Amino acid sequence: MPEGTQNAAILSRNIQDYVNKGGFRSLANETAQAVRDKVRAAKLRGRGGSGKYTADKWDTAILSAERRDGPTYLVCNAYDADPLAMAAANLMIREPFAVLEGIALTARAVGAKEVYFYFKATNRSGYDAILKAFNESQSSGYLNDISVHFVGADAGFMGGEESVMLEILRGRRAMAAQRPPYPAQIGLYEYPTVIDNIETLYTVTRIINPAATSDDKKSSGSAAPYTYKLLTLYGLDGKPVIVEAAFGSPISQIFEKSNIALNQNTVRAIVVGGPEGGALGPAAWNTPYDYESLAAVNCIVGSGVIEVIPAQTCMVEWARKRMEYLAKESCGKCVPCRVGVKRAATVLATMTSNVASDEDMATLTDLLTYIPRGSLCGFGWNASRAAQTAQAAFPDDFSQHMKGECPFHTCAPQRSHRYATKGVL
Ligand code: SF4
Repeated sequence: MPEGTQNAAILSRNIQDYVNKGGFRSLANETAQAVRDKVRAAKLRGRGGSGKYTADKWDTAILSAERRDGPTYLVCNAYDADPLAMAAANLMIREPFAVLEGIALTARAVGAKEVYFYFKATNRSGYDAILKAFNESQSSGYLNDISVHFVGADAGFMGGEESVMLEILRGRRAMAAQRPPYPAQIGLYEYPTVIDNIETLYTVTRIINPAATSDDKKSSGSAAPYTYKLLTLYGLDGKPVIVEAAFGSPISQIFEKSNIALNQNTVRAIVVGGPEGGALGPAAWNTPYDYESLAAVNCIVGSGVIEVIPAQTCMVEWARKRMEYLAKESCGKCVPCRVGVKRAATVLATMTSNVASDEDMATLTDLLTYIPRGSLCGFGWNASRAAQTAQAAFPDDFSQHMKGECPFHTCAPQRSHRYATKGVL
């Protein structure tokens, strides 16, 4: 959704509009058990990319709280970690009251009194909108049973990793931590902490109090609103289009209904899931957009970003750029990720420079296999996907470079010779 449209939406929205259409009504009616039961019955899965069942996470926190004497915290993750993602910013501006109702319902369901609203510090307009909505709500007698701390952070892609998030909330250095224990077991200040994505919390309102949410953004089908996912689509013009698509919709259909052309003459690949997502060749463009179907083609829901890659793009070069980006974003705590991702980018640069040997190809395969296996956190577990999917879907690009030529004659040589790679692993 263009920025101007977002601003138009917030100007027409206030607490009275929201209450008039039934907003916050659930807070007077729903018990903690009822909220948990309805969310479990709806089979809500976390919208932050992992796809875990929300009710299971809540149960883990409740069980953990029974064993510990102290608070349970709720963190609303509104940090768009992917630089191309706009879902959190969109919800903060478009539906701030429905987000806050979802936060209040979730806090009640898990027994949290203290909430951290974690967002990207550069998202100033989103912060202004959600803070204004919160203050208006409290002045009108709502949300007074929770206290909310608004915390802005600017920690790059790693700022969206939940263990990093907890460190930032404590004022510590942004480094990831090994799991388990998961935050729902031992989280902020060593107490159970439920971290839910802002879209998950918004969807809680959709489940418990559907009348309060605007459901005018659906791009396909007639499924229940809570089965939809906010996506940021990028066509060849590079302009973001925010849509909601029902889980299970074929990817090609999502583009079609959003009036974004998918033509094999102009589009080479579709990348699903953001910086750690995978590249799909035309044969897979009809893959249904759901957790299992995407996993079957080595893609992820991830950040909810789906972008097209123009025709005439060398996918070896594309993979190199992805790995270089990830190498810069790695927090550096563990060796497989800190060294492995950088090394994979270097090997890919050797390939795009047409000086790679068969040994380099074998090294790349080893690196991409062992980075996820040896890494501490989700960043490393997903870091190989871009290069792996490029290799799987576009093998000819790689073999052409191994023969000494870019398939599109577009790769500028990065190096004049290859490094010896034997014994890297
Ligand atoms: S996998 Fe990467 S981001 Fe995660 S802890 Fe290791 S170095 Fe840091």
